[in-house]
Amino acid sequence: MRNGRPNILITVLDSTRPSLLSCYGGPPSNTPNIDRLAEQAYVFETAIAPSAHTWPVTASVFTGMLPSKHGGHDEHPLLDSPYPTMAEVFSQAGYDTASFADESYIGPKTGLDRGFPVASNLRWHQVTLRNRLLKLIGRAHRELTRAYQKTFETRVLIGEALYWLKRRWDRRRPFLLYVHTDETHMPLLPPAQFRRRFTSLSARQKRAINQDKHFFVSGIARMSDEDFRNLHELGRAEAAFFDEWFGKLLRYLDHQDMLDDTIVVVMGDHGDNYGEHGLLRHGLCLYDTLLRVPLILRLPGARAGARIRPMVQTVDLLPTLMSLASISAPEVSAELQGSDLLEQVRTGCYSDFAISESYRPVSGPWEQIVPQFMPEFRAKYDRVLRSYRTNTHKFLWSSNDRHELYDLVRDPREECNLIDAEPQLACELHDGLNRWLESFSHARVTV
Ligand SMILES: [Zn+2]
Repeated sequence: MRNGRPNILITVLDSTRPSLLSCYGGPPSNTPNIDRLAEQAYVFETAIAPSAHTWPVTASVFTGMLPSKHGGHDEHPLLDSPYPTMAEVFSQAGYDTASFADESYIGPKTGLDRGFPVASNLRWHQVTLRNRLLKLIGRAHRELTRAYQKTFETRVLIGEALYWLKRRWDRRRPFLLYVHTDETHMPLLPPAQFRRRFTSLSARQKRAINQDKHFFVSGIARMSDEDFRNLHELGRAEAAFFDEWFGKLLRYLDHQDMLDDTIVVVMGDHGDNYGEHGLLRHGLCLYDTLLRVPLILRLPGARAGARIRPMVQTVDLLPTLMSLASISAPEVSAELQGSDLLEQVRTGCYSDFAISESYRPVSGPWEQIVPQFMPEFRAKYDRVLRSYRTNTHKFLWSSNDRHELYDLVRDPREECNLIDAEPQLACELHDGLNRWLESFSHARVTV
């Protein structure tokens, strides 16, 4: 280890429900590289995301706080809060940091590049010659086949991360390397051999399944249960494809004898709806289909893993990594809204609740794509949501006063709203949410 501090590799699989990975109950051998890692890691079985789509989730994971505190969300899509980001904290502590993402939200336009001298969301001038060639091939393929092929982007993404490790990383310092893949984000269009492993769909049948949330949510596109099953299997195929490339990154670290000097985190940013609650993809709700994500944490030199069932939050990651890297910054720690995961495991004292927030969704694309749906969209989805989740229940506060309450033990699919049947419990959880809201200074843009 450099200066006694571990390297850190964080890999985020976008839009990934736990069920896409074998180590969370997916089909055996679906994701062998992630599974091998998980066998030696803490696998958090109930990890809760702070929001419902990439940008506010990533801003929260990077700052260790919820959107109403850091102020970055759909109504203010820029992380300009005075609180430092993970990359800024680790840079300050002597780490060499870099971020590679094939997701346009993770870059300068949102402030999520803060603290990363190298923050490539794979823009043309930032990639190597070899990877420019791959991107060109990807574009030509898309033009010729009219099939968007993300697989070229995954090759470029991992290729860029490897190039940075081999040629750009300042080896006198430990690294913090952030890799974020959209391979698992809809549209799910895995390479043919992966599609065939998981479905019997032909390429034409695959293309015939609607993957546009605007058309489904507005009722223009009808989808069957079989369509949703097939989509979920295509998600597994994409996870399997990404796993193959992720394995190259792990093997490089292993061959360089660096794996045992490195903390490896694999996580989802949020999940996806596959038709549940009348929704497709993510955003617009705070049900567990979006909030429960994989979270795997392998420590340097670990040989045995542990499955952790109590609820934790992905905003717990920053305090956990600071603790593991022995970074003491009391002024940073005092503001964090997560807490050290390993401390929770060690003491058995887990947070009683997890908070998630969703601000008013951007309506522009809906107005353009499905203008006739806008009255219904505004009535149902133009609202702020806050979720106060315990290990057994969820209270969903809505700015349009249509609050919801679910018993997560009896009704894990959150289909039976108990808000009228259990007024006292709803009141208790609502009080808990209000106490939380009063416990910190809010960013200037709040509702
Ligand atoms: Zn995402």
